[in-house]
Amino acid sequence: MMETDLQHRDRVGVQDAVLLENYTDEKEFINNLKKRFKENLIYTYIGHVLISVNPYKELNIYGINNIKAYNGKHFFEVPPHIFAITDTAYRSLKEESMEQCILISGESGAGKTEASKKILQYIAEVETSGDVKTVKDKLMESTFLLEAFGNAKTNRNDNSSRFGKYMDIMFNFEGKPVGGNVLSYLLEKSRVISQATGERNFHIFYQLLSSASDQDLEKLNLSRNFDTYYYLTDGEKGKLDFINDRGDFNRVKNSLDTLEFPESKQNEIVSILAAILNLGNITFHTVDEKISVRKPEVLEVVSKLLQCDKDNLHEALTHRTVKTIRDMVKTPLARDQATYARDALAKAVYDRLFSWLVQFINKSLKSQEFRKLMCMGILDIYGFEIFQKNSFEQLCINFCNEKLQQLFIELTLKSEQQEYENEGIDWQKIDYFDNKMICDLIEEKHKGIIAFMDEECLRPGDPNDITLLAKLDKELSSHERYISHKKADIKLQKTMDRSEFCLIHYAGTVTYNIRGFLEKNNDLLYRDLREVMSQSMNSILCEVFPTSEQNSKKMPDTAITKFRNSLNVLLLSLTKKQPSYVRCIKPNDNKQPGIFDEELVRHQVQYLGLMENLRVRRAGFAYRRLYEKFLHRYKCLSVKTWPNYHGSAKDGVQELVCCLGYTSDDYKMGKTKIFIRYPKVLFETEDAFQAK
Ligand code: ADP
Ligand code: MG
Repeated sequence: MMETDLQHRDRVGVQDAVLLENYTDEKEFINNLKKRFKENLIYTYIGHVLISVNPYKELNIYGINNIKAYNGKHFFEVPPHIFAITDTAYRSLKEESMEQCILISGESGAGKTEASKKILQYIAEVETSGDVKTVKDKLMESTFLLEAFGNAKTNRNDNSSRFGKYMDIMFNFEGKPVGGNVLSYLLEKSRVISQATGERNFHIFYQLLSSASDQDLEKLNLSRNFDTYYYLTDGEKGKLDFINDRGDFNRVKNSLDTLEFPESKQNEIVSILAAILNLGNITFHTVDEKISVRKPEVLEVVSKLLQCDKDNLHEALTHRTVKTIRDMVKTPLARDQATYARDALAKAVYDRLFSWLVQFINKSLKSQEFRKLMCMGILDIYGFEIFQKNSFEQLCINFCNEKLQQLFIELTLKSEQQEYENEGIDWQKIDYFDNKMICDLIEEKHKGIIAFMDEECLRPGDPNDITLLAKLDKELSSHERYISHKKADIKLQKTMDRSEFCLIHYAGTVTYNIRGFLEKNNDLLYRDLREVMSQSMNSILCEVFPTSEQNSKKMPDTAITKFRNSLNVLLLSLTKKQPSYVRCIKPNDNKQPGIFDEELVRHQVQYLGLMENLRVRRAGFAYRRLYEKFLHRYKCLSVKTWPNYHGSAKDGVQELVCCLGYTSDDYKMGKTKIFIRYPKVLFETEDAFQAK
């Protein structure tokens, strides 16, 4: 297929962007993607990096025959495909015992989760012996289950993952999948209590309401009408004909069975979900200067579903106990504080339920093998985000992307350098946007943004967002990548709000609004509510709200510190693996097939650092190929090599290129490969071959 792509390159573009003549020209790069997209060729390479443009329609390229077509093929002999990336990684794992990871990035709706599912599908199909079937089923079902609880319809994606996910698939020495492990990051728990217009809460709530039997609904004190629930902001508008909530709930039940969740746990999960929906309907009023819930019957239902004491729950929703040096002081909450406490409880319960699900899935996916296992990781994580308003969540997400980009640059540069060294070819150092500076600005000990944020969270007195911003401005103003609102007019030629600051990320300059930072970082759930939960008779709640948490003297880690720690663990594990990259691009904002919005794509090309990637990859040579492969293909172009060359492949290639008139600048001879500097040279050779 390489040949047809080369042949038709005017129409379908080149399948590897390193073959573009002006590889620094962003326009040409995007135009190439567009040409291919119009031909339904959604995949393009930059070297070994796969770019995937979401087609927003079913393409007939993922069937069993396609899987067979990629099985065991050499990467460059087949058209670019997610299966090619997966197959290469899988071969390398199986044949060279190299642990693998596939890193998928891109903005919401770009196709990351679909890509990760295709990878899983390939792995599941390519090894078809009977005994691993249960493992494969479990891997697939765990994906589905986590989507039900962790995905939602947003305005950008009807099935948007609201958490970051890293999945390890374990293989035994024969290359058979025997187990797995999932890590989740930053579930967007604020979605539990409210959603933007046109968006929905997590799928599972609608699935439950649409599909439970009338009897079950009655037992759970639920109504089929979405308008009943305050936590389903859009109510009945959340009924959508393109989302099959009913059918999906049956699949959820099936997944729970496959993953061996006992019936009792399944019931407890459902009770918790019903409790959250009812909890949202609790409101407060003040009677005789005392605050209490407006409808005691709703409180009754909630406490029944949460299996906790009704009076204790009421007390905990309306009071707050603060520990002083000598004793505990209990103070009543104001009405809005009580509402806040209610929402905090709903978020915490859902968030911890989700973590518990992940843990349970992991127990179920744990391999029974005692021999050494090899793993392939798949990372499906939110891409860089630059919105009109950027808050704490965007800072976490963008920080994560900086770290991943840093790893990417390090690893690609390193492997490029390695290849040149192995082949004995001179290597010129090239420069690139160094992420270290911005990573340090965010995470450096004692003087990074995270440190100041945590310090401010713990400071006695009256810390708030504005004092935090003042501190950041004071400490970081001189940093090259930090722009305080006071300097915005000089540095950015625009004015910024007094509650904003800017960071210069590799993907662009982002303005963050400080409002809500401290509260989100503190992530407080009053101890009174934690205590009530820890006494619940629901075994899941009891497990996720351990009493040890109550007794611990240590302050719990802040949200961003937790995130940073888990991110660092992830990065450490990734550096030990051989990476492959999938960069997903969304062609338009309307989920429409066939429409390629160049401006939108241009932004993503920037956020994904693709031009930088191409520059690094092209710094030396556009094309490289093993001598045997090169000779085999082009030997007909010289009488000295046709029909057979009797010396070494290297000598044969040398004869061949002399005969073809390559100049010494055009190519270099490595130990096992020929390196060709300019695509033009390769195309001329290919054209000569086609003319034969
Ligand atoms: P992300 O995880 O990046 O937010 P998704 O993987 O959920 O995005 O993709 C969003 C939607 O785009 C999917 O629900 C599907 O309709 C469509 N889509 C994505 N990738 C493909 C593909 N390879 N083929 C067909 N449709 C796709
Ligand atoms: Mg997703």
